[in-house]
Amino acid sequence: MFDKILIANRGEIALRVLRACKELGIATVAVHSTADADAMHVRLADESVCIGPPPSKDSYLNIPSLLAACEITGADAVHPGYGFLSENARFAEILADHNLQFIGPKAEHIRLMGDKIEAKKTAKRLGIPVVPGSDGAVGPDDDAMTIAKEIGFPVLVKAAAGGGGRGMKVAHTAEDLSMAISTAGNEAKAAFGDASVYLEKYLQKPRHIEIQILGDGRGGAIHLGERDCSLQRRHQKVWEESPSPVISAEARARIGGICAKAMQDMNYVGVGTIEFLYEDGEFYFIEMNTRIQVEHPVTEMITGIDLVLEQIRIAAGGDLPVAQDEIVLNGHAIECRINAENPVNFRPSPGKIARYHPPGGLGVRIDSAVFQGYTIPPYYDSLVGKLIVHGKTRGECLMRLRRALDEMVVDGIETTLPLFRALVREPGIIDGDYHIHWLEQYLAGGALEGR
Ligand code: ADP
Repeated sequence: MFDKILIANRGEIALRVLRACKELGIATVAVHSTADADAMHVRLADESVCIGPPPSKDSYLNIPSLLAACEITGADAVHPGYGFLSENARFAEILADHNLQFIGPKAEHIRLMGDKIEAKKTAKRLGIPVVPGSDGAVGPDDDAMTIAKEIGFPVLVKAAAGGGGRGMKVAHTAEDLSMAISTAGNEAKAAFGDASVYLEKYLQKPRHIEIQILGDGRGGAIHLGERDCSLQRRHQKVWEESPSPVISAEARARIGGICAKAMQDMNYVGVGTIEFLYEDGEFYFIEMNTRIQVEHPVTEMITGIDLVLEQIRIAAGGDLPVAQDEIVLNGHAIECRINAENPVNFRPSPGKIARYHPPGGLGVRIDSAVFQGYTIPPYYDSLVGKLIVHGKTRGECLMRLRRALDEMVVDGIETTLPLFRALVREPGIIDGDYHIHWLEQYLAGGALEGR
């Protein structure tokens, strides 16, 4: 096992990793920018190192600073959390060159899955069903038109290097295509430095269903069921639940089995998520994330498996915690991502939290790094915290979520709490009858104006 882990992240995920380290008896090093000197992850870690000024590129993305912090503190492993350097294959390689263990998959697997075109080809080869689309990158020429016509409009133009919903444009008709290709390409070039785009059939009312997997890197891999992340705004997840209200035990076993088998064939190591769109009973692979995800707690709540702790154990050469047939899905869990944003126009609302009261009681979990008097800096994401609620059934879970949301107090800044208080009372949500465009349509209807 590792002696000391450096956590190359901030906010709630840095705390989440820290908790797993504490339970395992591993010493922790927090890193922080000058804007985060008073942050909770810094206060709770055994040691901390300032790695630069506020902008992420100078601090949390600054590889030389992180290496120096490892050197100074004698850390022997690095946990990247999510975002920042968590899917940077080069970072994993550089750490290995310095005899430091990257807590995550092999660099080759990060690189493979980071290129969505290569990822799709790999998925197809491993027997995972994919969205119909172009086999590789396309340019704004006749070629693309031929492929788009074969797929059938509407088509979605997606960036090979995409992430966070950026570099995606829908072409509803043939007339829109070349414009969509150049806009998506320009956006991708600006955001990721790579303008290559590909085409996919645009599914009209799918759900976003993702499978959590865990591999030991020696041909062993299991799946931990699905998460339904269909409630999205601008392709960003807002509410996640497990199990999905629409996936049967048979469908779960089928797609979960395909994913676990694919990971066995790849010798995948650590946690990973295979994302699908699901429409009319069919699954279509869209991408794989080779890291812990924001929404991992819903899976933890129904499986009782600590994913971050297992991630660390496996990186240290440990075995899978359970066999596939030992996994029991217990009850239902829902996560709300509460952001420091105006709940109507979603403008960020950083600033000082004047009053803070997190809800509690049976089945209620808060993963957050804020506290009363804490100032949310304007430089990073706007997550205040994740409220995760567990119940024996989906009905009980919703009942508990309703009262937990009503109990929660975050004053001094604007948050998206009013949105969740409205959603948890919406018939479509209560019935589990929603798809990836549901939330945008709901918001466009002005449901929250005047609240
Ligand atoms: P990113 O890496 O930017 O998050 P994804 O490929 O994971 O991109 O897609 C993000 C979201 O975009 C999906 O959850 C879904 O809402 C939407 N999306 C992606 N591909 C399609 C598609 N072929 N048809 C319809 N919606 C899609």
